[in-house]
Amino acid sequence: MEERFCQSCGMPMGQTDELYGTEADGNKSRDYCSYCYENGAFTADCTMQEMIDFCVQPVLENVPGMTEESARAMMKEHFPHLKRWRS
Ligand SMILES: [Zn+2]
Repeated sequence: MEERFCQSCGMPMGQTDELYGTEADGNKSRDYCSYCYENGAFTADCTMQEMIDFCVQPVLENVPGMTEESARAMMKEHFPHLKRWRS
């Protein structure tokens, strides 16, 4: 199974559907995690920049040796390719 990432916040989704959000009909979302997406709607109506600001702290906690500067640079590079932010 290919590695999948939430198409809103970039979080790795692992090998199960446990972390996925839910659609309005109760099915699992195939694109977004449960933090970003619930009952067919995004949990927070934010811009890509706000999402990056929000994600900096968890990334720093989860990736040893990562600096805030490189975390932001990485997300600025990666996020525009995610489905939610592609336009
Ligand atoms: Zn997410």
